[in-house]
Amino acid sequence: VPALSVRDLRKTYAGNSAQTRVEALKGVSLDVEQGDFFALLGPNGAGKSTLIGIVSSLVNLSGGSVEVFGTDLSRDREASMRLIGLVPQELNFNMFEKPLDILVNYAGFYGIPRAEALVRAEQELRRAQLWDKARMMSRTLSGGMKRRLMIARAMMTRPRLLILDEPTAGVDIEIRRGMWQTLREINAAGTTIILTTHYLEEAESLCRNLAIIDRGSIVAAGPMKALLARL
Ligand code: ADP
Ligand code: ADP
Repeated sequence: VPALSVRDLRKTYAGNSAQTRVEALKGVSLDVEQGDFFALLGPNGAGKSTLIGIVSSLVNLSGGSVEVFGTDLSRDREASMRLIGLVPQELNFNMFEKPLDILVNYAGFYGIPRAEALVRAEQELRRAQLWDKARMMSRTLSGGMKRRLMIARAMMTRPRLLILDEPTAGVDIEIRRGMWQTLREINAAGTTIILTTHYLEEAESLCRNLAIIDRGSIVAAGPMKALLARL
């Protein structure tokens, strides 16, 4: 089964009047195979965050269906949520906690025993090249380190699908490269990754397959190489 299967997905944000209603998704279909590194590329306002929000159960859909590893989201929301790790765009951890504590506390929230959480935290901090910063105040980390900490935290529940919403928006190229490295390692170890981006360069550097979304519709989809040849 695919990691993610989206069929005829629709989302209308109800405004106060017909004029302020927004059709953010107008019948989107796409499949992401297990093990893929997939980019959803599109300009601001295209519907990327809406799509990711629906898949990660933060936004209600207006029509269509979503399956995560074969489980219908509307039938078993809990099960599909357990399979997904989400990296939001904003840094939303406590800057006055240490990376190790942030990861262990997050795992605790998901019911992972402390001993297991410590094992996972070391693994994830090493993979994110943060192990030597495990006991520093998070506030003192560089911008790139903070971003990688967000990724490490999302991996604590061992999601089979990692979703990132514009993970590198507004960060410079050096920071982006550090994040790319961490994401490549996570994907190489078997986790399916989907990211949204409006940088073609980022999609090109990281992803095997992509879909291009514009004004709520998929305008092209397929392997990166085939699509680049057409652009
Ligand atoms: P992207 O992530 O590609 O920038 P979004 O999914 O954020 O696109 O937005 C798609 C469209 O839906 C835009 O026109 C946006 O203004 C609108 N939109 C997004 N969220 C809301 C909301 N909560 N209420 C009303 N309109 C929204
Ligand atoms: P960025 O994340 O901004 O791309 P790196 O994480 O690659 O930067 O860090 C560059 C170097 O600077 C690393 O060797 C890192 O240990 C060091 N460094 C950056 N910020 C700090 C900090 N606040 N405290 C300690 N070392 C830091």
